[in-house]
Amino acid sequence: MTTAPSARTAHATGRAHTALRELAARLDADDALAPLRERFLLPEGVVYLDGNSLGPLPAAVPPALTDAVTRQWGTDLIGSWNGNGWWEAPLRVGDAIGALIGAAPGQTVAGDSTSVQLFTALSAAAALRPDRPLLVTDPGHFPTDRYLADAVAGQRGLEVRRVPPDGLARFLAAEGDRVAVVSYSPVDFRTGELYDMEALTRAAHRAGALALWDLCHAAGALPLRVDDLGVDLAVGCGYKFLSGGPGAPAYLYAARRHHAALETPLTGWNGHADPFGPSRRYTPAPGISRARIGTPPILSLLALEAALTAFDGVDLTRVRAKGLSLTGFFLRCAGELLAPVGFTPVTPADPDRRGSQVALRHPHAHGLVRALAERGVIADMRAPDFLRFGVNALYTTHHDLLTAALNLRDIARAGAYDPAPPAPGPVT
Ligand SMILES: *Cc1c(COP(=O)(O)O)cnc(C)c1O
Repeated sequence: MTTAPSARTAHATGRAHTALRELAARLDADDALAPLRERFLLPEGVVYLDGNSLGPLPAAVPPALTDAVTRQWGTDLIGSWNGNGWWEAPLRVGDAIGALIGAAPGQTVAGDSTSVQLFTALSAAAALRPDRPLLVTDPGHFPTDRYLADAVAGQRGLEVRRVPPDGLARFLAAEGDRVAVVSYSPVDFRTGELYDMEALTRAAHRAGALALWDLCHAAGALPLRVDDLGVDLAVGCGYKFLSGGPGAPAYLYAARRHHAALETPLTGWNGHADPFGPSRRYTPAPGISRARIGTPPILSLLALEAALTAFDGVDLTRVRAKGLSLTGFFLRCAGELLAPVGFTPVTPADPDRRGSQVALRHPHAHGLVRALAERGVIADMRAPDFLRFGVNALYTTHHDLLTAALNLRDIARAGAYDPAPPAPGPVT
């Protein structure tokens, strides 16, 4: 007796699907973090796997913003700078983020964009190592990190060397004594690969260089230990895993040992030692306050502060464990359901080497992500052909991921997507 190949494939896939459904149900039933999902206002009928690009709305944000607007701004007016703690908000929110990245209080300030904070951090690093001419960064780094490395190097007469993380040790063995700063991200924003932050930081330090980390794709998703690892400088955004809202303030961490010598390139009045005084010259404030620049975006800061309460009482080692369960489960779905219809998983299967997203490659990534969104599953893509699925252990379920994989398989199998390449411009 023979079976047609197509029928055999369908049978095998159907069985895999039942096993995956049972596994998802079991993992979700055993999930101690499941109640945290109620801290987010997720729209009904939507599977949201793009929180690594824009975190969803935390339930604590609307009432906090209503209070900030109507009572604080509307009623208390300018008295809010002192009376409602507006002046201290960048430091207060900075400390709340510090708690998530392993920074003791007084070393993290919130404000401005990641790009501005990178400019500050790279410039400050160059000033801390004035006799060293090289700035090392990842050729695969996020675009703004690459552009700003070039800009700061140009202004300071440094040379940029593009060295992938796995080649850093070898590069430093040859040229380490000329390196001022090493600027990397713990997680590759396209592939989701996780690098060894501890080993890379140690390698930089052995060479006498500073370690600057961009934590955009790590903070809130993994336990970080910037103090313990001796990280020199770090930056990150407020709107990905921290869910602080569109354009949420970013942050800058500078280790306390660097504060006294920290030269910031943008010497705004908020970072002055006596911001309301009559001084004619810039004298930096003591501590991390010197990294403040101008008047902070209070409404956005207060939204971010409220968003961070979603982490109250949450142990990030458990967030990490669930994140790995989610990405591991999705990789399994990808292997069983999606690889057979033309997707190539590129996120490492080794749990020590993956962050909080899974990336698949497919030549029609753009059309597939669009078709998926029409079915209520929101993921995104990055050029040229990466589909990205971000998980956040605070609200993502294994069932969400199976729903995404089954929809994607059906779309690919039916060819129900636009195969045209993306038009230039923002993609969702
Ligand atoms: C998201 C992200 C940024 C964003 O920079 P903005 O100035 O906030 O737009 C920068 N770097 C990395 C690594 C990112 O993932």
